[in-house]
Amino acid sequence: MTVHIHPSIDNGVKPGSGHFAGGTLVCKCADKQVKVGVKGDVAHNHACGCTKCWKPEGATFAVIAVVPRENVSVLENGDKLHVVDAAATIQRHACKGCGTHMYGRIENKGHPFYGLDFIHPELFRETGSAAAGFAAFVSSVIESGVKPAEMTGIRSRLKELGLEPYDCLSPALMDVLATHEAKSKAS
Ligand SMILES: [Zn+2]
Ligand SMILES: [Zn+2]
Repeated sequence: MTVHIHPSIDNGVKPGSGHFAGGTLVCKCADKQVKVGVKGDVAHNHACGCTKCWKPEGATFAVIAVVPRENVSVLENGDKLHVVDAAATIQRHACKGCGTHMYGRIENKGHPFYGLDFIHPELFRETGSAAAGFAAFVSSVIESGVKPAEMTGIRSRLKELGLEPYDCLSPALMDVLATHEAKSKAS
């Protein structure tokens, strides 16, 4: 059985150039595409199995990374953007035409990830941004309809791709969350 993770990595994870200077994210509309400019490279790029991240047609996982929010700017057709769920921690700005999530932003200044926007590097017109390095919220794909019996195959495929599967975030990001929690308790 072929295990599909995401079209941008199913044939292998392409390494980043190491000097990606930024680029333009483009939505999937045939015309009047929403274009979002991103300065610099992405960080913490990963496959995500949660139910909130946007996935292209046929993908089991999303591929998502973070960039500093000040590096993100809407370049064209921003009037087509709307916030998918204003109550969510991450406000996902999506194209009303094609549904593609262009960037997710945290407005709560007390959130440990405040200051970072979430973007989907596959939408870059340019190649060379930092590659996906792990898989997060892997067990959550069951909530999107994956049968529990398929999980062994999915986890081994992720490992084969070099994407260590975690059922929450990566250790580095979990440490960021815990550090923030420890600091807020101390203050
Ligand atoms: Zn669109
Ligand atoms: Zn997610």
